[in-house]
Amino acid sequence: MINIVLFGPPGSGKGTQAQHLIEKFNLKQISTGDLFRYNMKNDTELGKLAKSYIDKGELVPDQVTIDMLIDELKKPTETNGFIFDGFPRTATQTDALENIVKEELNTDISICLSLVVEDEVLVQRLLKRGETSGRTDDSNEEIIRNRIKEYYTKTAEVAELYKQQGKYVEVNGIGEISEISNKLFAEVEKIQK
Ligand code: UDP
Ligand code: MG
Repeated sequence: MINIVLFGPPGSGKGTQAQHLIEKFNLKQISTGDLFRYNMKNDTELGKLAKSYIDKGELVPDQVTIDMLIDELKKPTETNGFIFDGFPRTATQTDALENIVKEELNTDISICLSLVVEDEVLVQRLLKRGETSGRTDDSNEEIIRNRIKEYYTKTAEVAELYKQQGKYVEVNGIGEISEISNKLFAEVEKIQK
């Protein structure tokens, strides 16, 4: 199996690049952000809880997110592997993911691909996305800046953990989408050899 953690700040292009990686390597994407939005749209209890954090640009608490991920991974699927998009976002989630992948799939995380994009570019991209996405958390610069702050205070340490395991690779997230995809593909191909 190829199990990829697609890492990077909000607006770094994880969702876009996940689509390209899925097609190239026949993977299944698990986006915890998309799962929350699905629950918010359907007004479930989980959705209501998540919304109270997401609308402020804060992270949803670890255990809520981890439980949702476990439920998702328990669903039977035929795949070459998974792309975790937007998860893990904290050190606790990183440890949990390692255990879940071991227990549910009997395998491990192959690589953490990190998209690097500077803050001001992120803010501009997210404001632009907010014009059409309908996402409440993209529509307001203050919320966007809070998401970026959450990234630095809580999420950046995830990179350190994958670095310690020798699984962390950075790719410049600014440029042509296809160029960035090709760089990501090359990193995955390296570890397949
Ligand atoms: N979120 C979270 N934990 C997750 C995924 C998402 O707390 O594992 C929340 C968080 O508030 C985040 C929002 O959902 O700001 C949107 O997440 P998503 O990954 O979709 O946004 P992106 O960072 O890709 O723009
Ligand atoms: Mg996303």
